[in-house]
Amino acid sequence: MPDLARSHAVVIGAGMAGLTAAQAISGHFGKVTIIERDVLPAEAVPRSGTPQAQHAHMLLAGGLKALQTLFPGFENDLAEAGAVNIRTGKDIRFERPGFDPFPIRDLGIHIFCMSRPLLEAVTRRRVLQSPNIDIRVHSRVTGLVASRDATRVEAVRYDSEDGPVTLEANLVVEASGRCGLTLRLLEELSLQKPEATEIGIDQAYASTIVERPPDHNADWLGNITLPSAPASSRGAFLFPIEKQRWLLSVGGNHGDAPPGDRAGFMDFVRSLRTPTIYDAVRDARPLTDIVRYQLPCSTRRHFERLESFPAGLLATGDALCRFNPVFGQGMSVAAQEAVILDRLLAEGVPMERLARDFFAAIQDTIATPWGVAVSDFVYPATRGVRPADLAQRLQYGMALTKLAADDPEVHRLTVEVSQLLKPQAALREPALAARVISLI
Ligand SMILES: Cc1cc2nc3c(=O)[nH]c(=O)nc-3n(C[C@H](O)[C@H](O)[C@H](O)COP(=O)(O)OP(=O)(O)OC[C@H]3O[C@@H](n4cnc5c(N)ncnc54)[C@H](O)[C@@H]3O)c2cc1C
Repeated sequence: MPDLARSHAVVIGAGMAGLTAAQAISGHFGKVTIIERDVLPAEAVPRSGTPQAQHAHMLLAGGLKALQTLFPGFENDLAEAGAVNIRTGKDIRFERPGFDPFPIRDLGIHIFCMSRPLLEAVTRRRVLQSPNIDIRVHSRVTGLVASRDATRVEAVRYDSEDGPVTLEANLVVEASGRCGLTLRLLEELSLQKPEATEIGIDQAYASTIVERPPDHNADWLGNITLPSAPASSRGAFLFPIEKQRWLLSVGGNHGDAPPGDRAGFMDFVRSLRTPTIYDAVRDARPLTDIVRYQLPCSTRRHFERLESFPAGLLATGDALCRFNPVFGQGMSVAAQEAVILDRLLAEGVPMERLARDFFAAIQDTIATPWGVAVSDFVYPATRGVRPADLAQRLQYGMALTKLAADDPEVHRLTVEVSQLLKPQAALREPALAARVISLI
């Protein structure tokens, strides 16, 4: 077993999963190198390697907690960088069918709203304060190198500005947002690849940033409008972000994609289930073009089911599980995975067992956000294996929503689950379940 204090870890990708994984590892390895294909901007501006970052990105309370664990004082950093402090249930108006808006309450849970580039810039700044983490930019990893006996990964190959490089590592973490390098290596070694569960959602987004009018004097800072599913999938997020701006993302699925021209985009906004967002932004000054994004499916790769996997290799973040973005979970789950990795390393799990233990340990963390995806099947066009009890689950969800509207304690619990502070099982506790079922 290598002496970790003298060992070298490589993290592929400097997105939210890569940055948090690097921080988690840095306390246990002598040196950590993040390899990123982009040149990373000093400012909080978009970059080509993370095109999704121009769309609304909510950092859930569970993700904020994980980031605060990895980077003590993180909340102060966000506030100082201009992120907007939000009381969930109060500052963002939540409109859902039957509740326009959902009862407004300060639930005592706070989060921050900001652009994803700002969140990434603040996280990167913290990562670079660790003396043993180095980021190599403009360097694209092209392959993983296994040991001769094919039991371990021992290096990565990447293309740098000066030509191809092979960099030795005792641990490699794929946080590339895809999983291509790991899957290719498994194929090269004739090892089994993980099964993938896919849910075909065909989710489309279009987004723009507008000035948040200083005279906007409503009692809310942002608004979420949910669609009247399954008749329509049109929904929207209007989030307050740094520099007195609003980031507006609208979406639809299965072919109902918002247009990329401003007139068409605004028509789409006007067609939302309620006029709240249209009325708020129609006269607001646009600050960016409209950008679009399409995601065909959510994907969960079952590494935990593999019988053999090379030592010294892990996958995390979207490379492992990519969620439907409308639930705002990916970055938070990535940060929670990093906290688990830190714990396993602190417990002294040997490298030979790290992948197996890590993939097993994160299943509970993935279960709740992935469980939420069941509501995607409300749309008949959604592809995948529909749960046999789908109708009952959807009914339960609707009755729970009614109860949450009436009872602040239940409201708080549902928010704690959706914010990834508590597991979904909390919504099935017998006493609560009995109350919910009585409403069906
Ligand atoms: C439209 C949209 C909206 C979303 N909204 C939310 C939200 O509200 N809340 C939320 O939590 N999540 C949201 N997500 C998900 C979120 O973006 C991801 O889950 C999260 O960013 C974690 O991603 P990651 O770090 O695993 O991958 P990425 O963010 O994709 O980062 C991967 C990094 O790896 C680099 N890279 C890739 N290949 C290589 C290579 N070969 N060599 C070197 N570097 C490489 C890339 O340049 C990039 O920097 C949304 C996603 C989409 C598509």
